[in-house]
Amino acid sequence: MKRRLKANDDQASFALLPAALPDEKLLEIHRRLCLIFGCPIAYFRALDPLSELVSSLLSHRTRNVASGAAFRALRARWGEDWAAVRDADPAEVEAVIAGVTWPEQKAPRIQAILRRITELRGELSLDFLAEMTVPEARAWLQALPGVGPKTSAAVMSFSSLRRPALPVDSHHHRVAVRTGLIPPSVAVGPSHTILEARLPPDWTAQEIYDHHEVMMLHGQRVCFYRNPACERCVLLELCPEGQKRTAGGASAEQKSVEGK
Ligand code: SF4
Repeated sequence: MKRRLKANDDQASFALLPAALPDEKLLEIHRRLCLIFGCPIAYFRALDPLSELVSSLLSHRTRNVASGAAFRALRARWGEDWAAVRDADPAEVEAVIAGVTWPEQKAPRIQAILRRITELRGELSLDFLAEMTVPEARAWLQALPGVGPKTSAAVMSFSSLRRPALPVDSHHHRVAVRTGLIPPSVAVGPSHTILEARLPPDWTAQEIYDHHEVMMLHGQRVCFYRNPACERCVLLELCPEGQKRTAGGASAEQKSVEGK
C-alpha cells in the first residue's frame, strides 16, 4: 500500500525539526486509514496563498459550511480585491462574515493581517512564499498577528503552493492522542512539531496532505469526541484508548465495517 516517493527540495526543511524519526505506529495508522479513505486524496481547492490565509482565519472554531459561506460572502462583496477588504469599514467586514464564530474578533484581525502584509511586502500577495523553504515560510506567516502553526501549515499545504506541511485540527489531534502518537498533555499547537517530526522525511506534500485528511476524516466519522465507535475501528488493536474502552477489542469482522 505504502508508496515510497522521491525526495524533493522541500524535504530539507525537515532538517530544522527536532528528531525526524519516522514512527512505525504512525505509518501503520496511515496505511490502514488510507485503505479506508482512498489515498491519494484529491485536494479540495487551490486558492492562492493569501486567499487561503483568509479562509483559514475564518475557519477557526467554525464549521466548514459557515466559514465557506463567509469566504464566499467576502468575495461577493469585494471580489478578489483583498486591498478593498483591508480598507473597508470594520463593521461592514464583521457583518459580511457574521456567520462565523467570533466575527467581531476575526474581522479586525483579518484587516490587521492584510495591513501588516502590505507594510512588510509593499503589496498584498503571499506568492513570494513559493521561493522560501517551508520552515522559513511558516515562520514568516507565524510572525503575523494571530497566525499559529495550524494556519501556517494550512496555507502551505492547502493553497496552490502545495508544499509539505501538516495541519493538525481538533479531529486529527484527538485521534493522535487516543492512539498514543502524542501524550494527552500536548495541545493542538505544540502537536504540530511533534507529529510532523514523526513523518518519513521523504514524504511528498501529497502524502502529508493525505495523512492530515485521513486522520481528520477518521475523527469525524469513527473516533467521535463523545462515544468513539471503537468496536468498528480499524485502529483498535493499535489504540490504547480503544483497548481500554472495549476491554479486549473487537472482532476482525466488526473492524471491516468502518465508515458504514
Ligand atoms: S479504537 Fe476508538 S479511541 Fe482508538 S482510534 Fe479507534 S475509535 Fe478512536
